[in-house]
Amino acid sequence: MKILDIMTKQEGVDRLDMVNVLAFVLAVRQEEVLMNLDRSLDEETAHRVSALLKERSQGKPLAYITKRKEFFSESFFVDERVLIPRPDTETLVEGALEILNKKPNMKCILDMGAGSGAIGLIIAKKTGKRIVCVDVSQKALTVAEKNSRDLGVRDKVDFLCSDLFGGTRREKKFDMIVANLPYVAQTEWDSLMRDVKAHEPRTALDGGADGAEVYRRFVQELPHYLKTGGCVLCEIGGAGRAEQVREMLRAAGFLVVTKRDLSGNERVLIGSWTSLS
Ligand code: GLN
Repeated sequence: MKILDIMTKQEGVDRLDMVNVLAFVLAVRQEEVLMNLDRSLDEETAHRVSALLKERSQGKPLAYITKRKEFFSESFFVDERVLIPRPDTETLVEGALEILNKKPNMKCILDMGAGSGAIGLIIAKKTGKRIVCVDVSQKALTVAEKNSRDLGVRDKVDFLCSDLFGGTRREKKFDMIVANLPYVAQTEWDSLMRDVKAHEPRTALDGGADGAEVYRRFVQELPHYLKTGGCVLCEIGGAGRAEQVREMLRAAGFLVVTKRDLSGNERVLIGSWTSLS
């Protein structure tokens, strides 16, 4: 069957997604798919393409089908064990890199809720600094570990399976902690995209009744784990969430600056820890 016939036959899939799936199965670049629409596929290949397109039409995210997602110009391996890296999260990485460029002495960095490793591994790759990646899910850390090898930074990263700081040693303090913790509130859950709800790991998204429960626990412990002059960068989103978490950080003694994403939403809170305690 010809590529064009497969594409015309399939309903309910975005054209760009179709090209992506075809490029994935045929192991070619997307342009090559578009330039060879009359190429004939053998029965087995055509069958495989149709099966994956069907999954896409039923809502499986493209990234879980191709097992790849671009983030900060790097290609990350992803599957159902991890949240798919979002473009919005690049705002957090940019903020972290800006600070690390200005303060080269910052050496100890922790990525809390690392998931696929997107944030921490990019920081390790761009700065050459060591990172501790923490996640409550051992399955997610297996994916992050694979990505650290793919990105050539395995020797810079330590992995720790822990519910927030539960498994870390109190005496260890960090210069920078980055966190993209779950922040979706129960009331917002229904309005999430179908693909997200049905396929992405709920533990990576569900922030409890008001969406701030995980951040609340995190901020309580945070001061014990930062050096004086250190900082925290948290990703947030959703109605009122920035205000809530900003207040928590201020109440804990942080100086807070807010960074917006490319759509203009308050997306990242940067808290400086100046206390001597
Ligand atoms: N931005 C994500 C979403 O809306 C939420 C990520 C998170 O909870 N940390 O899909």
